[in-house]
This record gives sequence, C-alpha cells and structure tokens, in this order.
Amino acid sequence: MSNLLLKAGKLIVGDGKTLENVSIFIQGEKISEIGQDLTTPPDTEVLDFSDRVVMPGIIDPHVHVCFDGGTNPEEVKLFSDELLAIRGVQLVEILLEYGVTTVGDAAGRGNVPFAVKEAIEKGLINGPRFLPCGKMITISGGRNFGGANQADGPDDVRRAVREEIGRGASYIKLAATGAISSPNTESFNSQFDIDELQAAANEARKVQLKSHAHAYGDVGIKNTILAGVDVLVHGHPLSQENIELMKKHKTMYMPTIVTYYESQLHHNDGDLPEYMVRKEKEIFPLIEEGVRNAVKAGIELVVGTDSGMPYTYYGKSTSEEMELMVRLGGASEMIAIIAGTKNAAWSLSIDDKVGTIEVGKSADLLVLALGKNPLEDITILQDKENIKRVFLKGKIVIER
Ligand SMILES: [Zn+2]
Repeated sequence: MSNLLLKAGKLIVGDGKTLENVSIFIQGEKISEIGQDLTTPPDTEVLDFSDRVVMPGIIDPHVHVCFDGGTNPEEVKLFSDELLAIRGVQLVEILLEYGVTTVGDAAGRGNVPFAVKEAIEKGLINGPRFLPCGKMITISGGRNFGGANQADGPDDVRRAVREEIGRGASYIKLAATGAISSPNTESFNSQFDIDELQAAANEARKVQLKSHAHAYGDVGIKNTILAGVDVLVHGHPLSQENIELMKKHKTMYMPTIVTYYESQLHHNDGDLPEYMVRKEKEIFPLIEEGVRNAVKAGIELVVGTDSGMPYTYYGKSTSEEMELMVRLGGASEMIAIIAGTKNAAWSLSIDDKVGTIEVGKSADLLVLALGKNPLEDITILQDKENIKRVFLKGKIVIER
C-alpha cells in the first residue's frame, strides 16, 4: 500500500469547515489521518501544497451520458446504443479534467450508462466514479427519455423500481410531471400521483437508495415532497408553501439552474424544436425567486447540471451551477461548495465514502492553483487550469 502525505495550506473539508496548515495522510485509496505534525512511515511520499487550497473532488449527481449538450435530443434518437457508449466515455473524461470526481447518470437509454460505468471501472478510460440510475421511471405515455421504464399504479411502480435496482441502479429517478424535452407533455402538468411516488421512494429506501424526482408546477412539486422523495429535481416554480413542506420533510433541492441559464442564451439560434424553446421560456423567469427563497429558508441545496441537455456541456457546467447558486440564488460560496460535495454525496447514498475530506473516506481531492480560493471567487473552478491536481481514490488522475 502506498503512503502519501499531502500538506495543504487551507483545507476546505466540504461540510462547511476549513482547516489551516494541515497534512492529509493517505494510505492506498483512503485518508487515514488529518492533522498537524503527523508521524508517518519512512516510505511516505510527501507532496507539499502548503501554499495552496485543497478541497474535495466535485460531485455532480445529474448528468446524462447519452447526450452531449451539442446535439438536438431529437437527433440523438437516431444514434445506436453502441455509438452513445463510445461518445459517453469521451464525455466523462472531460468531467475529470474539471475536478468532477463522482457523477450520477440521471437516466439514459438501455444499458449505455452501465457500459460507461464498466469501462471506467475496468480502467479502459480515465473517468470519474460513475453511478447510474438506469432508466427514468415514468407513467405510461409520459416522457420518453430514450426508453423509459413506464409504470402505472403503486404496484407497477414498485415493479419498475425493483427492475432498475436489479439492473444495478445506484439511485432511482422518477418523472413526477411533464418535461421540456418531450413534445407531448406539458412541464407543469403532474403525472405520477402521490401514492405512486410514495411507493417508489419507499422501495428505494428499502435498499438504502435515494429517490430523485423531476418535477415542475405547484401540484407535481407538492406530490413529490409529500411522498417522501429524497431529492426534488428542477422544482420550478418553488412556492413558499412547498418550501415550508420541504423543511418539514427534509427534501433536498436540486434546481439545475445552469441548464436553463445556458439554453436561454441560445433561444434565437433556431437549433431547438419550437416546443422546447416555448417551455424553457415559461420556466426560466421563475427560477431565481424560488432558489433565493429556498436559500433563505435554509433548504439543503445539491448541485446537478443536466449536462448533456442542450447547451449544457460536460466540464465547466458543474462549477457554473455552483456560481449560479451564488450569483442568482444568493447562496454563500460555502453553501455552493457543500451542494457540490457533501450534499451531492448524500444524494447518491455514498456520503460514508466521499463528499468530505475526512478520515476513513476515499482520497478524492483537488489541489488548486497558487492564489486561487473558491471561497473568495467560486468562478475559478470553471477554468480547468486552476485545478492543478485531481486525486481519485488516492491516485493522481489529472496533473497539470
Ligand atoms: Zn435531467
């Protein structure tokens, strides 16, 4: 087992705390000690970053590896699974370049996300820890997200959840309402009823997995919260009534601001189907107020980008989401970092392994460029040149 001592000038733990001038002792994949003046075995390699900021690897629980951000989702329907898998492995390598060490795939087609995961785990490519949710679970006639697992009624929903778990899902993704990217649904119309969402959330909980639900509109959002779903995804508009319910039910909030923000910059480009532009225009103006109110109410935020959706490119989108939480949502830089580390790990049920730099956890961490501190300027993470080293499971996977 290799021994590594990493000296950090400032350590952002990921839970809201910072430590000054500490050393992190890494044995193999894991952090075995953190402190000052550590005694280490003679064969320990020392890396001195005592003039730098060190932070946890960034976690994005919401990407779609079957999409690349630049291709119209309608066109992607014509691509083979094999092509999507080959493209997918290229996309996840970009994430690592930007310090994203763990991602969740929030629904894909067939076995593509599982194939990408396997390619990473077999060492065929340099990719982040990859946790797929499998297929999106929707109502019959709901959004067809590249082959959804359609289910009606609580019993059938349980069947669908069990199938995704059986395929190796790391979490469960539900479509509680219509969506922008499906032509025959309206975003604000609710789809699953509370009893169906509840059946899914409970079934996931039985195997210690989290449930995430895509939801828009007051009714669908309320159903999601009352059903005990763990993570509200999108959640626009977020009313004060629903914020109060989220507090009571401890629902985590993933607003995915970056995907709407980037896409609305291109509404006049003519690349997207008319129905998508129309629906995005309905939603974008509603986002700021809801996120601001959620931040004020102390709702736990979690990063999620929807990377792969139109104009939401792999890489800098994850840290751009953190910037938008600060700039548009009024969150502190620290809240945004927690959203992309500790809370993101919780949302994927891996908070015992990653998300914070603590003893016993995997050594997934970033060493930043001299003079760069995301607590002073969260935008520095969007320039990959500011991320000098990326450690994943105790190994340097990016060095520049
Ligand atoms: Zn999504």
